[in-house]
Amino acid sequence: MERSEALAKVKPHLKQERYEHTVRVVDTAVKLSELNGAEKEKVEIAAAFHDYAKYRDKEELERWILKETGLSKDLLQYHHELWHGPVGAYIVKLEYNITDKEILNAITFHTTGRKNMSLTEKIVFLADYIEPGRKFPGVEEVRDAAWKSLNLGCYMALKNTIQFLMSKKQPIYPDTFHAYNDFVTMEK
Ligand code: GDP
Ligand code: FE
Ligand code: FE
Ligand code: FE
Repeated sequence: MERSEALAKVKPHLKQERYEHTVRVVDTAVKLSELNGAEKEKVEIAAAFHDYAKYRDKEELERWILKETGLSKDLLQYHHELWHGPVGAYIVKLEYNITDKEILNAITFHTTGRKNMSLTEKIVFLADYIEPGRKFPGVEEVRDAAWKSLNLGCYMALKNTIQFLMSKKQPIYPDTFHAYNDFVTMEK
């Protein structure tokens, strides 16, 4: 599947602003791929589909997780904002027969990260955080870091997210900590 075909499939499932975010994530992810020697074709598809399930309602997302889908049931104990990645990957596999693990894992883990992320996972995770439409505090520093080093960018994005969630007294999903622990000790 090509970039334009993937985006055309995604578009009807998103609001206009979310679609525009998705296009910027694809563009950013392609640039990060070129810099880091990743497989551009996979990165493009993963980036195009990363928020595919963003507008499914909470009840539908919950039903998918409760089905025998192999999705982590522990997600249900955390904020529903964390559900669209894993469920999106599952639906995209079913509907479009995308079976590439690299692509599916990048969609699954784009919100939380995890331990031992692949190059494709890191790129989609970071592109989602730094795409030019993002405005949150600290994003400019993460952008600068991302173009210097993918691992440094991921580390800073995770650190910011964890600090932000802690300041809001929000629970933090364990995979987010596992990702942080990986990057904090890594050569950056
Ligand atoms: P989006 O789908 O493009 O808006 O971006 P994401 O999928 O990356 O993130 C959605 C939301 O999940 C953001 O507001 C993050 O702050 C939040 N988030 C990321 N990691 C965690 C976590 O471990 N726990 C909780 N509660 N929220 C998180
Ligand atoms: Fe998302
Ligand atoms: Fe993200
Ligand atoms: Fe996104």
